[in-house]
Amino acid sequence: MNFELFYTDYLKKLQAYQLAFNTISFEQYTIAPKDGIDYSNEMLAILSKEAFQIENNPDTIQKMKEYYNRLEDGLEKKEIQYRLEAIADSQSIPSDVYGASVKLAADSMMKWHEAKEKDNYEIFKPYLKQVVESQKQLISYSPRFTGNNTYDLLLDKFEKGMNQEKYDAFFEKIKENIIPFIQKIKESGTSIDDSFMHKTFSIERQEKFMDTIGEFLKIDKNKVYLSTTEHPFTSSFSHGDARITTHYYPDSFLSAILSTVHEYGHALYGLQVNPEFEGTMFYEPLCAAHESQSRFLENHIGRSKAFWQANYKDLIEQFPEFKDVTVDALVNMINKTECSLIRTEADELTYPLHVLIRYEIEKEIFAGNVDYDTLPTLWNDKYEQYLGIRPNSDATGILQDVHWSDGSFGYFPSYALGSAYAAQLYRQLEKEVDVQQVLENNQFEVIANWLKENVHMYGNSKSMEEIVEIVTKEPFNPDYYIQYLIDKYSKLYQLK
Ligand code: ZN
Repeated sequence: MNFELFYTDYLKKLQAYQLAFNTISFEQYTIAPKDGIDYSNEMLAILSKEAFQIENNPDTIQKMKEYYNRLEDGLEKKEIQYRLEAIADSQSIPSDVYGASVKLAADSMMKWHEAKEKDNYEIFKPYLKQVVESQKQLISYSPRFTGNNTYDLLLDKFEKGMNQEKYDAFFEKIKENIIPFIQKIKESGTSIDDSFMHKTFSIERQEKFMDTIGEFLKIDKNKVYLSTTEHPFTSSFSHGDARITTHYYPDSFLSAILSTVHEYGHALYGLQVNPEFEGTMFYEPLCAAHESQSRFLENHIGRSKAFWQANYKDLIEQFPEFKDVTVDALVNMINKTECSLIRTEADELTYPLHVLIRYEIEKEIFAGNVDYDTLPTLWNDKYEQYLGIRPNSDATGILQDVHWSDGSFGYFPSYALGSAYAAQLYRQLEKEVDVQQVLENNQFEVIANWLKENVHMYGNSKSMEEIVEIVTKEPFNPDYYIQYLIDKYSKLYQLK
């Protein structure tokens, strides 16, 4: 993109800080020894404060406003507009307040780790309270803050244009259709025996098979680094550097594979955004957009029959234990639905209910209706109400996800929305590409290219809602997602 020199300099400087932040955080999660983390959090806070001052320098902002007025309509103007909007939200935050919030988030995350490990919500409770208060304080500086729209502004941060009213309507559809459908499956009495999936396989053998899956997905090792962590995630550094982590469980063969495929969906997105957007507001797509791409790969590719048909020969070769399991039986096991406690391990059908629970609790938190002492009970009650099961520990209940520890409230709902975007996009891919044949012919690059051209290259220069409309030639419609789930699971469970 063609910017005036002052703006290019500004972007480059912020990019350099961003690289440092990404590197420090990635190391903290992967290789940094625990006792060094306090120190690096302190340094992180100093750097964040500096970057914040550069980003919000009043002289630069003034220059940007003048520049905005000089520019003709186009991507450059849109970039400056997005930047000025984002700055307006944070500009009035005193840098001390901002620095303190970064330090709090980092400390809180470490406490969450400890609390989860020790299965003790009490360790995390005071930090959770502080993080909520800190988010409220940060939001209160936004010019769009009206006094009672904190949660709406948080939702908007993770998916532009979203608010409680829109999410309420979305989740109402999920509730209305998915909860009774799950009940119907339970009543049908049909069950899928997936005990095979829980045989014990050594991590070494799983890692070797992961290489096979990586080759199938044409993962470019010059651009993608794979590591392991407790909680899988992706960090996009640049158009030539994406880092993903996975977690191997000896008795859950499928878990690492699907989480790697999921994270690779995020990584591929980052690698395929128009490289000209690097450093701009267009480079990092928002959460629902990102999640639409990771869930696209995980659900529509990684859980498909064609994917397993294509990798079946290698699977049998490396795991002769599977030789009596047909591809159909394998795919049934992979897609088995079961009401379970852990969101990241949930099947496609029950997944949106896990998100719904978090959304409802977040709403209550920001409406000020929550008693922190009994929050784990509220969590457990909702699991019982919507999924019919009750967690018997904090670690498998309220402490399972990292998100609340660093203040990412409003993030969860974007996961379900992303799945819905993915379903509508996949419907279009199927019209244009013979997906089954492409996968069976070991041509995953055809799908990667389709995603690049139709979705990834735009980055954040268009919203996912706009992209879905361009690609599918009709507005986003969550009914496609619900219909897709009902069709898929009706077939799987032989429902009429
Ligand atoms: Zn994800």
